[in-house]
Amino acid sequence: MPRTPLIAGNWKMHGLKDALGYFDALAAAGVVADGREILVCPPATLVAAAAARAAIHGIAIGGQDCHTGTSGAHTGDISAAMLRDAGANYVIVGHSERRGDHGETDALVCAKARAARAAGLTPIICVGETLSEREAGQENGIVAGQLTGSIPGVFGPADFVVAYEPVWAIGTGRTASSDDIAAMHAFIRSSVPDGEQVRILYGGSVKPENAAAILALSDVDGALVGGASLDPASFADIAKSV
Ligand code: PEP
Repeated sequence: MPRTPLIAGNWKMHGLKDALGYFDALAAAGVVADGREILVCPPATLVAAAAARAAIHGIAIGGQDCHTGTSGAHTGDISAAMLRDAGANYVIVGHSERRGDHGETDALVCAKARAARAAGLTPIICVGETLSEREAGQENGIVAGQLTGSIPGVFGPADFVVAYEPVWAIGTGRTASSDDIAAMHAFIRSSVPDGEQVRILYGGSVKPENAAAILALSDVDGALVGGASLDPASFADIAKSV
């Protein structure tokens, strides 16, 4: 099974002035092409409108988080089924900002991934070590534990995507070196069942200037892009690097 490259944008808690024109701009820049998948994860308030506009151009939409349940008394939460009904195909789970800001554990991330799949979404399961963990040489152990704890055992290789995002490289302008990225992606591929078939994205200060070098690494199947995805021209340049 070929691993189609996936370039995913994560707008986080940013509403863009022209959130829908963004998709027209991406398409006009030529991001949509055979052999790569383009995904944008806007804030939940924009998912439905974005999905309608993005679908015109063949661009996929995802959520940034979901609840473990399908519905119920969970004020402020959004279920995977609701994202799916709004037109999403993917959802990010276990982003380090959710793990950090909301104390999300591997077990919770695993339950969210399972709920996402049950609703027909593909979860993008985020893992990655902190700077102190890397400096202590613990990165493989930390990531291995996150993979084991966050990926449901019943999942097949096409049921999910992994995003390796070293916490120290997110939003800092500090990118991991090509050697570090290559080593960790190879490690992740060898750690998950049927790893040869699993798509593994890199995330952490990916920009137009460094995208081509990162995306050329053989175990890197795409990117999860935060800050640079807010500008359609920059995101298009990254997407066209693969
Ligand atoms: C992210 O939010 O997943 C991310 C990688 O952010 P940035 O590209 O801004 O580092």
